[in-house]
Amino acid sequence: MKLRLGLDIGGTKMEAAILATHPEGNDVVARERIPTQREEGFESVFKRMLDLIASVINQNGTDIGELKSIGVGLPGAVDPKTQKMLNGNTSLFIGHDLASLLKKALNYSGPIGIANDANCFALAEAMLGVGKKHAEEQRTTPEKLTSIGIILGTGVGGGLIVEGRALEGKSGGAGEIGHTQLDPNGPECFCGRRGCAETFLSGKGLESWYAARYKEQYFAMQIFDRALMQDKKAIEALEIYRKYLDQFMLNLINFFDPDFLVLGGGVSLQPAIYEGLEERVWKKTFIPYTHPRIYQNMLGDSAGVIGAALISPLEKAHR
Ligand SMILES: [Zn+2]
Repeated sequence: MKLRLGLDIGGTKMEAAILATHPEGNDVVARERIPTQREEGFESVFKRMLDLIASVINQNGTDIGELKSIGVGLPGAVDPKTQKMLNGNTSLFIGHDLASLLKKALNYSGPIGIANDANCFALAEAMLGVGKKHAEEQRTTPEKLTSIGIILGTGVGGGLIVEGRALEGKSGGAGEIGHTQLDPNGPECFCGRRGCAETFLSGKGLESWYAARYKEQYFAMQIFDRALMQDKKAIEALEIYRKYLDQFMLNLINFFDPDFLVLGGGVSLQPAIYEGLEERVWKKTFIPYTHPRIYQNMLGDSAGVIGAALISPLEKAHR
């Protein structure tokens, strides 16, 4: 049995878990979540990370030396060579060499990997979530599949999984699908372009274009609720949302030809976005017979920490 520790660091909360891998599968054997408290600054957050790690290790009654690896998911793009976070909305972690700092502070000699949290989500769902179920149905194993994990949350992010590994790209930017363009005349995006997927399909994006179009301000969840209550503007907005989501899915499928796509993040909890989605998309794929499934995630907000435990720092080190 292999024990691997995963740490998922977000802007508001951080979570640690120990994943036990054995021939029959994987189990989470210890787990804890605490607030990040990023306003206290990096030194303080780092100290809390160490306390959190110590706490889950104690919970499991294990010794840190028994861990095969430690993986950390961060909310931003991570340079695969230096393992430092390059950008992201939680600027606190940008530029810090977390792997070295952890190694030293924990007196741990095993491999430590740092990854983008969207890649962690995509990897966890591919290997232990919907990907596991999909593989069973197709009488294959998750390691043989290709998939895309898409986060429709405050922003739009993604991870591309090829045969059990997250593609990182040359600089850690692979899978930044939120900044692919759906409409050159669309709203301005913070990245400098217009009409990025994020400006239409994220919770914040939906709220902004709804406010600009209808001069009414609602949270994304309220817009979906109002559509359910037959509010005309909200129903129209949902139709527009679906059209952009169709285009986004088709771009990704034509580019990547995955076995399946899996949606995560707050907006992915809305059943309305899945209505008719596969049928509409399947009619328009360039390869007519490719019918990739589009799933809602199965692991919920545990995907981040499980994915962090699954990242393979050993492979990284030897590449
Ligand atoms: Zn953008």
